[in-house]
Amino acid sequence: HAKRLGGDRQEVFRPILRPLGRNVIDLEGDLRKAIKDGELDVYYQPIVRLADQSVAGFEVLSRWKHPKRGQIAPSEFIPIAEQSGLINELGLYVLTRSARQLAEWQDKIRTPAPLFVSVNISSRQLLRHDLINEVKAILSRSRIAPGTLKLELTESIVMANPEYSAKVLERLRALGAGLSLDDFGTGYSSLSYLQRFPFDTIKIDQSFVRPNGRSARPVILRSIVALGHDLGMAVVAEGAEGESDALELLQLGCEYAQGYFFGEAMSADEATAYIRKTYEAQPA
Ligand code: C2E
Ligand code: MG
Ligand code: MG
Ligand code: MG
Repeated sequence: HAKRLGGDRQEVFRPILRPLGRNVIDLEGDLRKAIKDGELDVYYQPIVRLADQSVAGFEVLSRWKHPKRGQIAPSEFIPIAEQSGLINELGLYVLTRSARQLAEWQDKIRTPAPLFVSVNISSRQLLRHDLINEVKAILSRSRIAPGTLKLELTESIVMANPEYSAKVLERLRALGAGLSLDDFGTGYSSLSYLQRFPFDTIKIDQSFVRPNGRSARPVILRSIVALGHDLGMAVVAEGAEGESDALELLQLGCEYAQGYFFGEAMSADEATAYIRKTYEAQPA
């Protein structure tokens, strides 16, 4: 063992790691400041009913416009937020903002069924005990229809710690939060966990909706949709980019879809206009 330790120690001085490390550290400081200064923004991507293309709700997606570097993708800053612990602050900010927005929509715009928002939760947030208290506080101080503030978690997040996750998810559901299983199909091969967690919605990953080779698509999609429905869940297809995607999903019995065909993530004002366009279209 002593020998291995000595060997490993050299790794620390590998110079190639330094520029990358510095970049991450810079961004971490900038991100901390961005959260404090409200530089981070909350965007909303429509999730529509395929039958009539009416908006059912929105996925909440964080956006960061860095003063010098411009737009930075969540795939870059969310991992930094996770590693540094800033995700707790960021997550609470996103949850609070989007719950307030949802309450306002439900209060001001008449829709046949209450709109929902679906907020991404990272693994560190789920493992932190305060999440339950935060969700409880948010739900108790705003009038939001039960189940319409949804939390989105991936398979890999819940499966990293299945017993603990199951307990936390049960409590969140008891508080009135909705639960969506994100990126379905990309994680584990066993499906038994689907019944272990109280998800009400599954979101089919983009890779099944727009696979590289299209030949197997209908068979797999149809099976996932049937599985979700048999388990009493709503099914959302992610990444519908074209009209043909939307038509095919509808024919396969999928109720909901999200993707560039229906709209990209947009500001709260744009989302409000999007809802009004669906539900308050005035005759000319
Ligand atoms: P996700 O939760 O699976 O979100 C869906 C991603 O697919 C979004 O990327 C969205 O813009 C993109 N997308 C939607 N429709 C289409 C389409 O038709 N075609 C294609 N090619 N892409 C589409 P985005 O906004 O870059 O977010 C990436 C990931 O970052 C998210 O994946 C989520 O895991 C994470 N993320 C974003 N915001 C937050 C947040 O506030 N908190 C946490 N914990 N994670 C976040
Ligand atoms: Mg998501
Ligand atoms: Mg997803
Ligand atoms: Mg994803």
